[in-house]
Amino acid sequence: MKICKDSVVTLSFRASDTQGNLLEYGKEPRAYLHGGYHNTLPGIEKALEGQEKGYQARLVLAPEDAFGLRDESLLRSIPKSSFPPGVKVGGQLEGRDENGREQVFTVQKIKGDTVLLDGNHPLAGQTLRLAVTVIDVRPASADEIRHGHAHGAHGHRH
Ligand SMILES: [Zn+2]
Repeated sequence: MKICKDSVVTLSFRASDTQGNLLEYGKEPRAYLHGGYHNTLPGIEKALEGQEKGYQARLVLAPEDAFGLRDESLLRSIPKSSFPPGVKVGGQLEGRDENGREQVFTVQKIKGDTVLLDGNHPLAGQTLRLAVTVIDVRPASADEIRHGHAHGAHGHRH
């Protein structure tokens, strides 16, 4: 079947940055629900629409089609005293943004008594190179459509 709205698509992929460094992102195959559910990167949805099992593609995704542009309003500086001991550069903390949504902050820098946090996705602002293979395509179940994500192997687990 061809990939269309409400298809569950299982992909394997290799991702690298523009310098060719392999990224952790996408190391495991994953299944996503196709059709604007924000389960996967916008550039992947665009490239796979209408394709079938076995399709392979090499994609170069601009930040807008990948993890988005960097948002400098997501930078925070916070006193070191308000952190648990052992805060390290590159470590991640969960917090909430202004709208109360959960957000992961990465420790960017520790400068004296101040910790600089970055709430952007670590890949925000980056162009990605992807080599994608469609391993499987099937119609989504009613439950999957209701939940807005794929279940089963490589999908969402409850
Ligand atoms: Zn679910």
